Order: sequence, then C-alpha cells, then structure tokens
Amino acid sequence: ELSERLKKVASYIPEGSRLADIGSDHAKLPCYALERGLIITAVAGEVNEGPLNAANRNIRAKGMEESIHAKLGDGLQVLDGETVDVITIAGMGGPLIVRILEDGKKRLGASVQRLILQPNVASDHVRKWLYDNQWSLIDEQILEEDGHIYEILVAARSEAPEAAYNKHELEKEMWLGPFLMKQKNSAFELKWSKEREQLKKVKEQLSKGGNTAALTEKKKKIDQYLIWLEEE
Ligand code: SAM
Repeated sequence: ELSERLKKVASYIPEGSRLADIGSDHAKLPCYALERGLIITAVAGEVNEGPLNAANRNIRAKGMEESIHAKLGDGLQVLDGETVDVITIAGMGGPLIVRILEDGKKRLGASVQRLILQPNVASDHVRKWLYDNQWSLIDEQILEEDGHIYEILVAARSEAPEAAYNKHELEKEMWLGPFLMKQKNSAFELKWSKEREQLKKVKEQLSKGGNTAALTEKKKKIDQYLIWLEEE
C-alpha cells in the first residue's frame, strides 16, 4: 500500500502524463500512477544502484516494463532522450531538491509543464528556487503521516511566479507557504507550534552567547520569525 504522502503527490499528476520520478527508489510512485491510469509512460530515475535494482525488480514483478523505464543518473540527467510532461521529486530535503533542479535547469525542456515537489525539510528553499526560475506555485499541501509532517509543492511554468504571493510579505509567505497559510489545517498548526517552541529555545541559547554581530543578526532573524508566527 502506497503512503498517503505519495498518494497525495500522485493526485497532482494530470491524467495521461509522461512522468519522470527523480529519486524513485522502488519506483512505487510511477507504478501506482500507471495502475491508476494517471500516466502513459514513466522514467524512474535513481542515482544509486541499490534503489535502481529495487525499482527494476518492482517494475518487472508488476509487468510494467513496457511503460516504466528505470534509469541510473544524477538528478535530471535521466531526462536526456526522453519526453516528459511532469516531474516528481519526493522524500528529499529542500536543498537537495533545489540542487537537482538547478543542476538540471537546461534539461527542463519545453515539454515539462509541471513540477510536483515534496521536500521533507526546508520547503522555503524550494519556493525560492521556483520563484527565481519562472515557475509559479499553483497549489500546496501539508499532511501528517506516521509522526512526520510533509509538504507538497505544485508548480507550473509561468512568466508571473509572483502571482501566488502578496508582494508585501514575500519572505514570510515563502517560509510558511502561501496556500498552506490560507488553509491552516491541523498539520500546519502542528508544524508551526513545534517550530515556535524550537525557535524560542534557540533564542534562549543564543542569549547566553554574548553580543557578537553574528549572534545579534541570528537573534534578529529569529525575532522576525516569531513575529510572523505571532501574526498567524
Ligand atoms: N521518492 C521516494 C519517496 O518519496 O518515497 C524515495 C525517497 S528516498 C528517501 C530518496 C531517494 O533519492 C533515494 O533512493 C536516493 O538514492 C535518491 N537520490 C538521492 N539523490 C539523488 C540524485 N541526485 N538523483 C537521483 N536520485 C537521488
């Protein structure tokens, strides 16, 4: 059974898509999407041999080798020679997702219409990359599963990536997620109440460290975050 997290990711794949799932591990997401008729083909990209072999075993066991092709490669390298409409990158930290997108920028050909990204941490890095690279955030989800909180960001190519944001609060909205802060579901509340406690603890620790310029800067940043959370 596929996790709720990956089911939610799959729910954003438009029917009839040609998918590339980067960091596919067992290729669970593409197999599920094919079973549901969401995709017609998929590339399951993996940088490591172990997960690649697991993907191949899984694809073969399901008799899906005609439609799903597991490929070894770093990030978007596996897009070479493929035509893809949708890319999913799930279950990694935000900075790694950004690194993969940045390194693979030139491979994001015109056919790629949608990015579905599921950063485990630091989703603000991903929002910033999308914004800086003409991808518009079109939806977001936050959910709790097995004691973890996950965010899903959905983006489409756009000349106006600022559309999702209220420009006066860009930095705050990139941190919290413009769609998530409107919905404010229970996972959102839980994430940010934990985060608030964490920030307060860090601030306390920093207060014991004296008044160097670097510490003062850090404290200022935390105060800004705490004010933003207070406003919510
Ligand atoms: N996407 C699946 C999910 O969400 O459940 C698997 C997530 S797993 C934690 C991360 C996978 O990404 C690992 O199998 C790892 O080998 C792969 N990975 C890490 N860096 C990668 C990169 N630069 N290019 C392709 N795959 C990568």
